[in-house]
Amino acid sequence: MSYRYPESFVFYRKLNKKFTKAVSSQGCFILDENGKRYFDAAGGAVVVNIGHAVPEIADALSGQARVLPYVNGTQFTHDAVETLAAELAEILPGTLKYSYFLSSGSEANEAAVKLARQYWYEKGIASKWKIISRTPSYHGNTLTALSLSGREHYRSVFGPLLTEFPRIAAPDPYRHPGCKACTGELLEEEIVKQGPETVAAFIAEPIIGSSAGAVVPSREYYQRVSEVCKKYDVLFIADEVMAGMGRTGKWFSFEHFDFIPDILVSGKGINGGVVPLSVLVSKKEIVDQLAAGSGYFNHAQTYTHSPVTCAAGIATLRYLKKHKLVERCAEMGEVLGNRLHDLREFPVVGDVRGKGLMWAVEFVQDRKTKAPFARSEKFAERFTEAVFQNGVILWNNVGHVDGTNGDLVMIAPPFTVSDQEIEDFIKCFKKSLEQVI
Ligand code: PLP
Repeated sequence: MSYRYPESFVFYRKLNKKFTKAVSSQGCFILDENGKRYFDAAGGAVVVNIGHAVPEIADALSGQARVLPYVNGTQFTHDAVETLAAELAEILPGTLKYSYFLSSGSEANEAAVKLARQYWYEKGIASKWKIISRTPSYHGNTLTALSLSGREHYRSVFGPLLTEFPRIAAPDPYRHPGCKACTGELLEEEIVKQGPETVAAFIAEPIIGSSAGAVVPSREYYQRVSEVCKKYDVLFIADEVMAGMGRTGKWFSFEHFDFIPDILVSGKGINGGVVPLSVLVSKKEIVDQLAAGSGYFNHAQTYTHSPVTCAAGIATLRYLKKHKLVERCAEMGEVLGNRLHDLREFPVVGDVRGKGLMWAVEFVQDRKTKAPFARSEKFAERFTEAVFQNGVILWNNVGHVDGTNGDLVMIAPPFTVSDQEIEDFIKCFKKSLEQVI
């Protein structure tokens, strides 16, 4: 059997690729049907935070599925959702405590946008609807999440279906240090240009994930943009789908800065990478407004507050705490970062950046001018394929420089990664780089 289109009836994510069949996984490794082991240096798509196949998560899922697999969130509450919300509230600051559970990051961002809009509507300021986002950015693939995403190659085909939201440049300390995008000035200019009475929210990944490549903006940037949001009554939505749940060495990446978002969105690693679970967390002031008005959030999906996915979330949160894995992520992130910086010996390595265990290596054609490779060279794709053949999984991203060009890989292993695994990984990275240049 060949795992490719059209021999298999799977509508594959890539239609010209022959797929390798994975049969099992454990810790940081995935095994294919031929017995070859792959080091999962990207946790899939930055999802597998606690390692593959953790028995505690499997037990939580099957335990919940045997006792109370499904009830509808409009008819009942249950222990799994109550406990997960309470345990998340313990690790979240201020009044940012009220959790609404969904399935994917895209859905949770859509819900966050609707919540921002409904809040202003119920407050009697119905003119506020625009959401300002940044480029590059990624907030998901459903239509509103895609409308907000600054990722041209994902958007171009669907242009007529997308909502036109204002977008500003994301901070890029590597290529454009000190510019208005890096200082935060751009946000104020854009709010004023749009008219503050029309702007409902600003959405941003506090530490930017794969769309820009683990970019860590300055503290001053977030000080300024959060002040600007307050000044103009604009809600701050922090998209922590990739960077949240410990990935950057703190529970949430906004904690590296001095602000608290009004709405937080997280997903991916929140459930150990086992079943789809995402969350929107709101400040109390926003929920109060709805409670005093319509009395409900005008959003619903069949699996909202699902018992089984929430049970996986509780087991993951407890596992992270019990094994001090967020602290470990910070420690091993230092080790990984130091070793990745050694890759600068290769002239094609333009930048190495990141936080915790979320790192990116950006490749350039010319290190002096920072000129990217021509897209036709498919450098990131060729490198990722070479690494895969050598038994390591990386996540690549292209197009972040100007919407077309730009090559980077994300390195985001499980928090359980060992020193030796990092050493072996770096060796493989170097060997693969030598093969493609
Ligand atoms: N937001 C960010 C920052 C992401 O990285 C992603 C996925 O990579 C999403 C949203 C979308 O999440 P999902 O793929 O679960 O819909």
